[in-house]
Amino acid sequence: NRRFVLAERPVGEPDDDTLRLEEEAVPEPGEGQMLLRNVYLSLDPYMRGRMSDAPSYAAPVEIGETMIGGTVSRVVASNLDGFEEGDWVSAFGGWQDYALSDGTGAINMGKSPENPSWALGVLGMPGLTAWAGLTQIGEPQEGETLVVSAASGPVGGTVGQIGKILGCRVVGIAGGPEKNAHVTGTLGFDACVDYKADGFPQALKDACPDGVDIYWENVGGAVFDAVMPLLNPRARVPVCGLISQYNATSLPEGPDRLNLLLGTILRKRMTMRGFIVFDDFGHLYPEFAAQMGAWVREGRVRYREEVIDGLERASEAFRGLLRGEAFGKRVVKLTEA
Ligand code: NDP
Repeated sequence: NRRFVLAERPVGEPDDDTLRLEEEAVPEPGEGQMLLRNVYLSLDPYMRGRMSDAPSYAAPVEIGETMIGGTVSRVVASNLDGFEEGDWVSAFGGWQDYALSDGTGAINMGKSPENPSWALGVLGMPGLTAWAGLTQIGEPQEGETLVVSAASGPVGGTVGQIGKILGCRVVGIAGGPEKNAHVTGTLGFDACVDYKADGFPQALKDACPDGVDIYWENVGGAVFDAVMPLLNPRARVPVCGLISQYNATSLPEGPDRLNLLLGTILRKRMTMRGFIVFDDFGHLYPEFAAQMGAWVREGRVRYREEVIDGLERASEAFRGLLRGEAFGKRVVKLTEA
């Protein structure tokens, strides 16, 4: 069993020494356990947080432990009711070829799911994040303007498409012409603005002539600075992620804009609310799965995936994700199904 363990806690960007590939015997499932062969491993921004022992909503991975991660896997052997050999499951199998599971957090996907890896994206955690965060916190109303950062990614891309279905005018923010073209062309947003191009704040303003009623925050930093003055009275801001800050080792240089932000919240009677998907909205999973499954089948929600071949490439692929190199949902394929 090849597995990536956390070798040391990174300071700033993870590097070659952060994770170590080790090999051990494939474990035997005990009573109440099943053995999984991981087929796809999800790479997600939150994994950076688990490498660190800074205070967080979840415990860090310990040094020497296998890196955690969502997987789509097949059951090799099972001593667990409800799971049998050959079943596909979505689970938290971690960065390794094989995993033992007692069924906690595992969902049986049956013997022949269509697009099994999509359970790591639009039909799984990122999809639930988008759907629940937008409907429960964003509360979109027809005709409102919704702005979405990291708009080409699995969360942002899905948020914007749901916003369109619910009748919003949707403006994405993404880096570079290729991602921008995908967001308007394939995903069907009304507009998309390149935050890496000169004149970004003005271009965003031009794209939002009626201001911003909902801002979906995925990135933080300079992107939020450009959105803040455009927010309308009673705007809602689901605070989903701050990826521009995940490798930061200190707060940015001043001026201190905390009171500008607080004043904006006060004057505009804005709501900003953070959430952690499974803790806050896990109970909505069945409703989500039914609704999103239908939208995807009907072609109303589209999904882009990037498949990286081989567990040995997972570490570099993850670092690339944090640098903004992923285009769509990044998954690692560990083996043929
Ligand atoms: P993405 O694939 O969208 O994340 C990577 C993308 O973020 C990059 O491709 C890049 O796109 C963009 N990005 C923007 N600014 C930066 C920057 N400074 N450095 C690097 N990348 C940047 O990931 P997900 O869709 O999986 O997640 C989106 C956000 O949602 C993340 O912040 C994540 O942590 C959060 N999240 C939160 C959850 C919760 O429960 N609260 C659950 C799941 C995800 P571009 O080139 O366009 O800039």
